[in-house]
Amino acid sequence: MRLHSPILSSLAYHRIISSFRPISSLQRPADVIAPMATSEDSLRRALAEKQSTIDASGNAIRQLKSSGASKTDIDEAVKALNALKLEKTSIETQLKASISGDANGSVLSREAFRQAVVNTLERRLFYIPSFKIYRGVAGLYDYGPPGCAVKSNVLSFWRQHFVLEEDMLEVDCPCVTPEVVLKASGHVDKFTDLMVKDEKTGTCYRADHLLKDHCKDKLEKDLTITSEKAAELKHILAVLDDLSAEQLGAKIKEYGIVAPDTKNPLSDPYPFNLMFQTSIGPSGVSPGYMRPETAQGIFVNFKDLYYYNGNKLPFAAAQIGQAFRNEISPRQGLLRVREFTLAEIEHFVDPDDKSHPKYSEVENLNFLMFPRDLQMSGHSAQNLRLGEAVSKGIVNNQTLAYFIGRVYLFLTQLGIDKKRLRFRQHLPNEMAHYAADCWDAEIESSYGWIECVGIADRSAYDLRAHTDKSGVALVAQEKFAQPKEVEKLVITPIKKELGLAFKGNQKMVVEALEAMSEKEAMEMKGGLETKGEVEFEVCTLSKTVTVTKKMVTISKEKKKEHQRVFTPSVIEPSFGIGRIIYCLYEHSFHTRPSKAGDEQLNYFSFPPLVAPIKCTVFPLVQNQQYEQVANTISRSLTAVGISNKKDITGTSIGKRYARTDELGVPFAVTVDSTSSVTIRERDSKDQIRVSVDEVAAVVKEVSEGRATWDQISKKYPAHTSASADE
Ligand code: AMP
Repeated sequence: MRLHSPILSSLAYHRIISSFRPISSLQRPADVIAPMATSEDSLRRALAEKQSTIDASGNAIRQLKSSGASKTDIDEAVKALNALKLEKTSIETQLKASISGDANGSVLSREAFRQAVVNTLERRLFYIPSFKIYRGVAGLYDYGPPGCAVKSNVLSFWRQHFVLEEDMLEVDCPCVTPEVVLKASGHVDKFTDLMVKDEKTGTCYRADHLLKDHCKDKLEKDLTITSEKAAELKHILAVLDDLSAEQLGAKIKEYGIVAPDTKNPLSDPYPFNLMFQTSIGPSGVSPGYMRPETAQGIFVNFKDLYYYNGNKLPFAAAQIGQAFRNEISPRQGLLRVREFTLAEIEHFVDPDDKSHPKYSEVENLNFLMFPRDLQMSGHSAQNLRLGEAVSKGIVNNQTLAYFIGRVYLFLTQLGIDKKRLRFRQHLPNEMAHYAADCWDAEIESSYGWIECVGIADRSAYDLRAHTDKSGVALVAQEKFAQPKEVEKLVITPIKKELGLAFKGNQKMVVEALEAMSEKEAMEMKGGLETKGEVEFEVCTLSKTVTVTKKMVTISKEKKKEHQRVFTPSVIEPSFGIGRIIYCLYEHSFHTRPSKAGDEQLNYFSFPPLVAPIKCTVFPLVQNQQYEQVANTISRSLTAVGISNKKDITGTSIGKRYARTDELGVPFAVTVDSTSSVTIRERDSKDQIRVSVDEVAAVVKEVSEGRATWDQISKKYPAHTSASADE
């Protein structure tokens, strides 16, 4: 969850906070939206210069012709013009390559690759557009049999890697959530995206997406734009998330952007709340929403979970469940959908001690990190040692770093390519004011770098918000061995003065004053002493009020205390499971020629851990004896917990291998005798011969990662019969 305003989380909140921030102060990542690269800049200039030389040569040739110049002179000039045109084409190719970041200058190749992946996924029922026979609903997808199996494997590894290994408390809360909870979290008021409507047909679009598409299209396809114009478009892309409704509307008008399907004019942008609203019970008087994230279920249970944990910090709670967001115009397939599985962790920690006992286990990990400074200075992500990033103060604290390291291990063990995974730090303008530090695990796919996991230190914000709204103190205690003399902050709102100034809102202002952190209170005290009044944001009123000296006293008093009561900080890794799985599909997808070389065959190189089925079993030919052996092997695999599928169709063995490769099944057992069989490994296509009695144990060992294929294949004789391969 991300909060972008004093009370909020989620992408959508950018708009609200942006109205408080001058646009010139905003800076964004360098290669999320790369700044005008020097080479691209100079190529654009070179292209413009070449075009004017070509125009001048064209004019010169026309003059030569009209002045009756000799054929030789004209031919010479035409030859020179053609050479110039060739040079222009070469610059265009380089420019296209520079824009797309693709050595072949081909944007299309990425789309063709994506198409091949998506076709395979849909054909093999990894996923299916939901309600397809009724023409489907955008942003809703079903997982078919292999998709369900992959998802279930990813989730059980998540439980193993996080819940079990970190001793987390797992909860499972309802999707239907009463309004009061989401009012406290801020979602009711601010979980919005800006929308525009086709003025004639009423079709809705996300305003920032239309502006983004326009800028990207111009940059990628219009090679005639000047480098100044290109820089302007890139700047818009960089600050897109921070544009207010007015600024977005103005840009849409300035660039003449119209409805993509009809070319009709568009309305002004206005906020649209992304939550699906419902009502709880038949009377219709209890409003509720389908939860947009699972985190709130954990926060509201904090008190009980803390007790369950023996009133000890730190501890983490975890939840896997569905989240619902009524995206305005979902696109990018499985990456932006309206219902998706989230796996979230809320790690509660003492704000004064964010060290982590297992930090040493991750500090030597080295991977691509993209800190704020690199983004703002236009550099790319760099390999950094996690420990170095902490000691240099790049990552705010050990606990946050510990989770970054654990997320890295989780994703790479699933099969995400290390080279296409980076951890990008949020820029100051992307973070809520209370957040200490936020990093996104971004995975590169054919759609570009995609945020798949958000890892945020959200300080005490969420527990405070629910404490304020519910009146239940969501706090922790530290008992002192000896009483301590402490300086205590005392905030005394002067209710009479506040009542006069704020009337019906008095209670909310009082509560907000009392809930101030020490830092906020001391800042207010300073402001009141020097200026006599300060501006104060009251989250529950969603506005800023003026507080004067007469309205509150703030002081520090010495007291003896036996315990310290505080609101824990929350470190929250939040995993979009569908996004991770889609990126995994892309990273695992390959094609290779068939043995005859007459067609390209697809395969998914899933690690056994996530493969939907671990092993297929084929009788080489259709005969009863072989089928019996295949049944025995299949049963013994099932008995040791290895998912498997028999294929007793009469098709050629090559075709059957191709079919299982396309599902990413890592091992195939072929029964070609009654005493021993072959086991084939999908990626190398190498085969070994193993006795029937041993097959299940061998496949189990290699599927569960207790031995590698290399180790196994050294222990058993290689099988080289040409008959058993495509
Ligand atoms: P957020 O609370 O917005 O930070 O989202 C948490 C995680 O949920 C993100 O890191 C994404 O992986 C995932 N996510 C957010 N919105 C969507 C969506 N519309 N479709 C699929 N996954 C999403």
